[in-house]
Amino acid sequence: MSVIILGAGVIGSTLAYYLAKNGQEVTVLERQSNVALETSFANAGQISYGYSSPWAAPRVPLRAVQWLIQEHPPLAIKPDGTLFQLEWAIKFLNNCRKSKYLINKERMLRIAEYSKACLADIKTEENINYDGGNLGTLQIFRKEQQLQAVLDKDIPVLESNNIPHQVLLRHEIAQIEPALSHVQHKIAGGLHLPHDETGDCFMFTNSIAEKAQKLGAKFIFNCNAEKLLVKYQSGRKQVYGVYANNQEILGDNVVVALGSYSRSLLEGLLDLPVYPVKGYSITADITNESMAPQSTILDEHYKIALTRLNKRIRVGGMAHISGFDKTIDSNKVDTLNFVLQDLFPKAYNESKGAWAGLRPATPDGTPIIGNTSINNLWLSTGHGTLGWTMACGSGKLLSDLILGKAPEIQAHDLSLNRYR
Ligand SMILES: Cc1cc2nc3c(=O)[nH]c(=O)nc-3n(C[C@H](O)[C@H](O)[C@H](O)COP(=O)(O)OP(=O)(O)OC[C@H]3O[C@@H](n4cnc5c(N)ncnc54)[C@H](O)[C@@H]3O)c2cc1C
Repeated sequence: MSVIILGAGVIGSTLAYYLAKNGQEVTVLERQSNVALETSFANAGQISYGYSSPWAAPRVPLRAVQWLIQEHPPLAIKPDGTLFQLEWAIKFLNNCRKSKYLINKERMLRIAEYSKACLADIKTEENINYDGGNLGTLQIFRKEQQLQAVLDKDIPVLESNNIPHQVLLRHEIAQIEPALSHVQHKIAGGLHLPHDETGDCFMFTNSIAEKAQKLGAKFIFNCNAEKLLVKYQSGRKQVYGVYANNQEILGDNVVVALGSYSRSLLEGLLDLPVYPVKGYSITADITNESMAPQSTILDEHYKIALTRLNKRIRVGGMAHISGFDKTIDSNKVDTLNFVLQDLFPKAYNESKGAWAGLRPATPDGTPIIGNTSINNLWLSTGHGTLGWTMACGSGKLLSDLILGKAPEIQAHDLSLNRYR
């Protein structure tokens, strides 16, 4: 069976690995000159299974108003001139209800936990270097209410999904991240998720794509997928290939894994609720081990993640709902530098420039993985804030579905059908 995968980010490349490992004829089409040069390039480096949570949460509409007046706000919204932006925002707000939040969080945790098992298998079977770590995520709260909100809404879901976690008081924080003892007075408490991991997504994607190539997958770079080739078969639409670089490339199955650009390719065929949410990151070299983080720290107040990647610290965050513009706003970079300096002063050399990427975000936070109403057309997109975390599980799950194998986790509510 032949499968064409569109997009060689962490999602498309990991899927290529699983399909090639199962002996399928895999072709990956990527418009860039190599893998992981868009959103998978310099993300915050969290592999945060336990932290997986939708952004659409009960207190978010109220907090969004507070963020308007907060110094260093994590959110910015600018009309992009499309109706889709408004529709997406309405769907997002609808998902902030507690009942929806609980459903969405369970789905995200399901795919994330599955990813944990899949990444563990990959690490056992393959020699992959990605500056990985396994010391967990520490979510820190600067205000008592933030800690209380997590106790109310997140702990029950973590408990019902058997995710190991520990609530920490101010004086216990340094047991997990010793360098934070210097700034303990700024922190009200924390939530530690000891099974979470860390790693450089760009390095991983390059490594897994190389493994996929060794298993026979073909990666075609500088290849822009322009449109899907669709015909009618027994009264139903069926995809039979892709038009790219002025030629028809034919395949039995086509997977759209184009991240934030998935929606435009599907226009006129499917209504995909994936919106580009811009985020930023900076990376700094560590100069003083004892002052540096050990793993991922998530500053809940600023919504910024700081992750140890071997001898570096990656700092990422911000949500700009403003379309496909990737311009770097220096105020946002200042915020990343401010939080790094505030929590880990004297740990690093000045960062080497900033990066911006577009998270492919769904209104309910859960990625869209599975088949579609069009025969032989599959989706793996919309991984939003946690695509690196969910990549291995998404790849294994969709590979099983394409191969007609029974999936190892419940999958029907992860496909686009849930938006019907
Ligand atoms: C600031 C920031 C921090 C983040 N931090 C984390 C984190 O700590 N942990 C985590 O798990 N996730 C994080 N994420 C999210 C994660 O990076 C994304 O979910 C993930 O990279 C999405 O991968 P993807 O393969 O779907 O998309 P991409 O990496 O964007 O891949 C899509 C590919 O499709 C290609 N493409 C697009 N259009 C075409 C076309 N027409 N033809 C051919 N090719 C095309 C693109 O060039 C690209 O290579 C973060 C994101 C941002 C922006």
